[in-house]
Amino acid sequence: MSGHAGAVSQLVDRLSQLPGIGRKSAERLAFHLLRVREDEALALADAIRRVRTDVRYCADCYNLSEKELCQICADPKRDRTRLCVVEQPRDLLSLEASGAYKGLYHVLLGRIAPLDGVTPDQLTIDSLVDRVRTGNFSEIIMATNPTVEGDGTSLYLSNQLGEFPVEITRLARGITAGSVLEYANREIIADALTGRQKL
Ligand SMILES: [Zn+2]
Repeated sequence: MSGHAGAVSQLVDRLSQLPGIGRKSAERLAFHLLRVREDEALALADAIRRVRTDVRYCADCYNLSEKELCQICADPKRDRTRLCVVEQPRDLLSLEASGAYKGLYHVLLGRIAPLDGVTPDQLTIDSLVDRVRTGNFSEIIMATNPTVEGDGTSLYLSNQLGEFPVEITRLARGITAGSVLEYANREIIADALTGRQKL
């Protein structure tokens, strides 16, 4: 596709850098945006701008938030004796959608993956250890994904947290190995939470 006006080819370039969007899809999206009403197209641009300027990580749990503390950490009704450790904010959303958990969370922002160059110091582990040290938690639930790296991460964390008087559990293996929290349905996640086991 040569010969587009500069602005169009710039948009196609940008879109094709998004994950899962090839050149053809990028062109389709670009032409779609030229065809829809102007306010509709600009609303997308606004949404992108807002998500980057207004959204940050919660100061306590690293969930996505528009305030210093996310809605969960700020909610006085949450059970502050339980802490559930997840890899990504989207895993937290899956657990929340199950409605089966009322405690707090800690988002690692990744998992330990030596082969991809992800080491423990790149995750929010120091802050997790601090929270467990200073908080009143009786149970830490490892809800990393049931993959080799997810399991390795939860093992590493349970060693780091071993010195504290907390029970460390992990989700039951209802979620089949290799599948990830993000794609599991609510019933499976609720079962995995109810059937959690001591690590
Ligand atoms: Zn939070």
